[in-house]
Amino acid sequence: MKIAVFPGSFDPFTKGHESIVRRALPLFDQIIIAIGINAEKKYMFPLEKRENWIRATFADLPNVRVENYTGLTVNYCRSVKANYILRGLRNTVDLEFEKGIAQLNKTLATEIETVFMMPTLELSAINSTIIRDIVRNGGDASAFVPSAIDLKN
Ligand code: ADP
Repeated sequence: MKIAVFPGSFDPFTKGHESIVRRALPLFDQIIIAIGINAEKKYMFPLEKRENWIRATFADLPNVRVENYTGLTVNYCRSVKANYILRGLRNTVDLEFEKGIAQLNKTLATEIETVFMMPTLELSAINSTIIRDIVRNGGDASAFVPSAIDLKN
């Protein structure tokens, strides 16, 4: 079984995240979207909401699971027998950041490969920070999140 973990904060999950998962699906038998819980970090949306929104987005796909975890991503991967970490690369900032994490993870767990996907052109500009800004200022961010997600709910 080829299992990939797609780790992230997903605060909130966006059309960019959704696209990465859907496009990566043919490469793996199962993708686990894993919401990392970092005690040091403040989130805008509660964990349960973020989880339910992602579940609703992939309700039609039995090979997509949604979980949460604490601690090192590689330890979580081992606990669910995943040999792949899936990440998205939008720009050079992502590249530098992701390179560091991927190389570190490779040192910690040689059996785990990080696999990167680029967003399509029209989804490149979408990120959770912008969506949080729009919501905080009373705007409508529905165009940037999957159709199953109602940010006001
Ligand atoms: P983290 O806090 O771990 O960066 P995010 O939820 O912000 O979590 O992002 C999770 C992953 O999704 C990261 O690999 C990020 O690069 C990727 N990602 C975020 N937005 C997009 C997008 N619009 N297109 C493709 N990948 C994206």
